[in-house]
Amino acid sequence: MTFSNLKLIKPLVLALDKKGYSEPTPIQEQSIPHILSGKDIFGCAQTGTGKTAAFALPILQLLESKKDQSKPRTIKALVLAPTRELASQISDNFLAYGHNLGISHCTIFGGVSQLHQVTALKRGVDVLVATPGRLLDLINQGYIKLNHVEHFVLDEADRMLDMGFINDIKKVIAKLPTKRQTLFFSATATPSIMKLANTILHNPVSVSVTPFSSTASLITQTVYYVKKENKRLLLKHVINNGKIEHALVFTRTKRGADKVAKDLNSMGVSAEAIHGNKSQGARERALKGFKNRSIRILVATDIASRGIDVDKLSHVINYEIPEQAETYVHRIGRTGRAGEAGVAMSFCTSEEMTYLKDINKLIKKNIEVVSTHPFN
Ligand code: AMP
Repeated sequence: MTFSNLKLIKPLVLALDKKGYSEPTPIQEQSIPHILSGKDIFGCAQTGTGKTAAFALPILQLLESKKDQSKPRTIKALVLAPTRELASQISDNFLAYGHNLGISHCTIFGGVSQLHQVTALKRGVDVLVATPGRLLDLINQGYIKLNHVEHFVLDEADRMLDMGFINDIKKVIAKLPTKRQTLFFSATATPSIMKLANTILHNPVSVSVTPFSSTASLITQTVYYVKKENKRLLLKHVINNGKIEHALVFTRTKRGADKVAKDLNSMGVSAEAIHGNKSQGARERALKGFKNRSIRILVATDIASRGIDVDKLSHVINYEIPEQAETYVHRIGRTGRAGEAGVAMSFCTSEEMTYLKDINKLIKKNIEVVSTHPFN
């Protein structure tokens, strides 16, 4: 299967070539033809599956095909994303795939001055990528009108609900034209997700990829039993002994993330923490440093890490075991992406054993235990 087989137009295929993508991923193969034919989609897929391109490519193509009939620089596609990191990455995708087309886009999110965002909106945009709070804020200030939206994407809907955005989402939907195409993506299909999907989708096509089973063989998963007070030493040990050059380390709390980053730096391992209390500038700097490899270890909380997309990330380390088993799947999905091999290590204290059991149950196997380490 090639992208041309999916009837994508030449400028898009060229942009994909430039990115080095030769074949569509399963979610792309399943969604793109339906989206091009105008269908609503219920997509069950998490980050790492190529879902952003699965909606960005056909939206760009549809906008391009209607260019002559539609008013330029009015918002015709709206993508809602839960976090600023994810919104920025979605925008990067629109930029990368759409650079051969004259389709403008803009990203808006909170935590930064609205000045540049308003300037871009005043120039007019075809595609708007937004987080819910800032979007409503700018709508209320009269800078944004959604009455020409033809394509609406709700990305990571489960995370939106977890973050308490349900009322904001409802307010945004109330402002959209009823005649539109809606593309709904979520990593899980819980009853609350299905309820929301049912209220906003019209005869959707369901597409589902199970990233876990598709990536499981590519991700080596291990667990280390360790006392809480020894986790910092174990972290240094695995980084140095395993010659880990680049790893994303997860903690449960913001304070924990700061502490682990500080510990690592004091032990001579360059690290930065990224979490919701950091300014947007600090988060962007940390992410940039990690991507260009001037920072070796990025320590993140789950919400801040959402959407972090780092090419060829070799290691994910769960410094703390997440309380929700599904979070584990999200976390380790940051490695082993797009066919690359990855390693996921988890540090587990006796208090965290119940969480580990839940994970083993969810992934239907027991994560291999490494007992040959000095901090048993
Ligand atoms: P996403 O699930 O959208 O976050 O994408 C995960 C990663 O896969 C990103 O780094 C994408 O740029 C990359 N990707 C998307 N589509 C393809 C493809 N067809 N082949 C290889 N990599 C891809």
